[in-house]
Amino acid sequence: MNTIESIQKIYIDRALADSPMVRNIEERAPDRIVREYVNDPREILDRYVKGGDLVEKEDLLVYKFPGKFLSTCPGSDGMVCCQYFVINFGLGCLFDCHYCYLQSFLNNPLMTLYGNLDDLFAQVDAHTRGKNFQFRIGTGEYTDSLALEPLTGLSTLLVDYFAQHPNATLELKTKSDNVDNLLELDHRGKTVVAWSINPPELVEAVEPGTASLERRLAAAKKVQEAGYRLAFHLDPLIYYESGRGWERGYHELIEQVFDTIDPNHVAWISTGSFRFTADLKEAIQARFPEDRLTREGESILGADGKHRYFKTIRQDMFRSIKQKIESVDPKLFLYLCMETRRMWEDVFDFVPDSGKNLDALFEERRQFIDGVLGVPPLAGSKSGAGR
Ligand code: SF4
Repeated sequence: MNTIESIQKIYIDRALADSPMVRNIEERAPDRIVREYVNDPREILDRYVKGGDLVEKEDLLVYKFPGKFLSTCPGSDGMVCCQYFVINFGLGCLFDCHYCYLQSFLNNPLMTLYGNLDDLFAQVDAHTRGKNFQFRIGTGEYTDSLALEPLTGLSTLLVDYFAQHPNATLELKTKSDNVDNLLELDHRGKTVVAWSINPPELVEAVEPGTASLERRLAAAKKVQEAGYRLAFHLDPLIYYESGRGWERGYHELIEQVFDTIDPNHVAWISTGSFRFTADLKEAIQARFPEDRLTREGESILGADGKHRYFKTIRQDMFRSIKQKIESVDPKLFLYLCMETRRMWEDVFDFVPDSGKNLDALFEERRQFIDGVLGVPPLAGSKSGAGR
C-alpha cells in the first residue's frame, strides 16, 4: 500500500529551483526523502519508461511542462457532458484504486508534477478572464488533487489564485484527508473541496492507500467549518451483492455523509457507474488477480468503447441513489457523469439539451449556497452564456 511515507526520492528540474512549488517542497518534505536536481528531466522519464513498470509510486519528478494545462473534460462519445474544465498539474497518483483508468492511460509510470504554475495560471487567465461565464475548473483528472499535499503545499498556491479570480471556481477532488493546508486560507468561496466516496467495504477492498471513509468525512467537516463549499462524487458506483449489498451500502453511505455534513454546504453531487475499456480490464486483472470489479454485475460495451453495467442495473442504481439523496434534502443538486441522454430521461425525466442546461443548474445551486452563507453576488454572475 502506498502512502506519503512510501516516497523515497524527488527529482527536481533545475530550471524550477526558484519556483514556489519547489520552495514548498524544500520546506515541507522530510529529510529522509532524497532530492536530486536534474538538468534533463526527459532523461529521467525515459529511464522509468525503459524500467518497464506499469506504475511507479515511490519516486516523483517535478519538471517544467511545455504543453497545455487547461482543457475541457474529455467526456465521452454519445454521453451528456457537464461543461467542466480541467487543469492538469501532474500525472500519476500515489493511491492505487483498482478501477483507476490511469493504469491503462499513462505512457510513463513515474509520478510527475508540473512545477511551472505561472504558465498554468497564465493559460487559465487567457481562457477565462473577461468572459461572461462562471467556469468550473477541476484538478483531479490525472491525479488525486491532495494526495501529495503534505509534501507540496500545492493547494495553497491554487486556492490563492482562484480566490482572486472573478469568474472561475476551483474544484479540488480527493480521496485523502490532507486538508490542514486549506484551513487558514482566504479562499473567498472560490474553491470547492470534493471527495470521491464509496461504502467502507469498497474503500478497503479496492482503494488501497486512500483515507478511510471516516477520515474523509472528518476532513470534509473541517473544511466545511473553514467556510468551503463541498462536493461529493459517488463515482464509480460499484455493483456488489456480497455483505450488505450495493443498495444498503450506498444508502448507509449517504446517511453517514449527511450525519456529518450540512447539505447547505454541498455545491454538487455526481454519480457515474463503474466503466472500463478492454485495456483497463486487462490491467486490472493483471495487477489485481483476485479483484471482482470486472467479474460482477453484467456489462455491455457502449458507443464510447467503454463497458458499463447493463442499462437496467445502472437505472436501478441511479434511481435508488437519487431517491435516497432527495430524502435527505430535495434541494441537493445531483447529476450523472458520462451517461447517455436516455439514462438522464429514465432517471430524471429530463435531458439537458446541452451543457448550458447543466451550467444553469450549477449556477442556481451556487447562488442558493451564496444566499445561505451570506456571500454577496459575484460581478457578471450569469450562467450558460457568453462563452
Ligand atoms: S485516487 Fe483517483 S487518480 Fe488516484 S488511483 Fe484512485 S482513481 Fe486513480
